[in-house]
Amino acid sequence: MKKRLGVRTLTLVAACGLGVVLGISIRDWTPRVATALAAAPPQTPPNDGKLRVIIFGAHPDDAEYRGAGVAMKWAKAGHHVKLVSTTNGDIGHWQIAGGPLAQRRIKEVQEVARKLGVTVEVIDIHDGEIMPTLENRKIITKLIRQWNADIVITNRPNDYHPDHRYTSILVQDSAFMVTVPFFVPDVPPLQKNPVFLYTSDRFERPNPFRADVAVGIDEVIEPTLDALLVMESQIHEGGANGHAGLFPDDAAGKQRRRDEVRTSLARRYAGAANQYRSALVKFYGEERGKKVKYAQAFEICEYGRRPTQAELKQMFPF
Ligand SMILES: [Zn+2]
Repeated sequence: MKKRLGVRTLTLVAACGLGVVLGISIRDWTPRVATALAAAPPQTPPNDGKLRVIIFGAHPDDAEYRGAGVAMKWAKAGHHVKLVSTTNGDIGHWQIAGGPLAQRRIKEVQEVARKLGVTVEVIDIHDGEIMPTLENRKIITKLIRQWNADIVITNRPNDYHPDHRYTSILVQDSAFMVTVPFFVPDVPPLQKNPVFLYTSDRFERPNPFRADVAVGIDEVIEPTLDALLVMESQIHEGGANGHAGLFPDDAAGKQRRRDEVRTSLARRYAGAANQYRSALVKFYGEERGKKVKYAQAFEICEYGRRPTQAELKQMFPF
């Protein structure tokens, strides 16, 4: 059951940053970074015949890296895309942490979303601490229902980071449950189980990623990179494993780092095009599929609705 904080306790929470106060989990409350988001009404896109896509990542940069290019293509075509971070990212930096970092990262992903033309939400759970609990499953289920999602995207549960793994588990656990009327009955169930997709990765065990569909993002690669490079705390400064030398104070040093990270990000999407070439050829045909330079690939999760190849074409109408 949700509890409400008194004014004095709220002040204490604020004074302690986003930390756990009085031994009470932050998940029991609505702490300060999320206050504005939580106060806003649930975001539901209009029922206008366009696709509604929701992309989950564990930290305020994951859904962006994994979804940005294709998200921009959907957005440009008038489809509705929402990026969600399941934690607030408050330990994702080598030098700063807590509330100030969470607030900085929220601002970064809000600017990325503005540039991509999508919606964003950051759930106020501590970075490094998300667990696959019933309470969190309900949060994710509600978000998918409120977005009235046709497509749900996340990373696979095979991953080096516990937050990534548990975010994936929580999203998987919401597949099917989003259709069950008496699970979180205060938000209407979806009439149709969405298609759940995993983004690509290089983890091999227990099974490697399988590209069921791959789409080219050549025409949006430059604005996609422009958008991603907004996340300076992560991309330029190196996030949790960075150091002061990565993004020096002088203008020339800063530009060098900007060029370096842009090249490396572009290489990541180019690598995907080469690695998943056969999926590109299957989707676009031989001639067009072979020409794609930058791509993103997805695997269909067995727990959501299983789309036919024709449905996949409708879901990626590019
Ligand atoms: Zn992450």
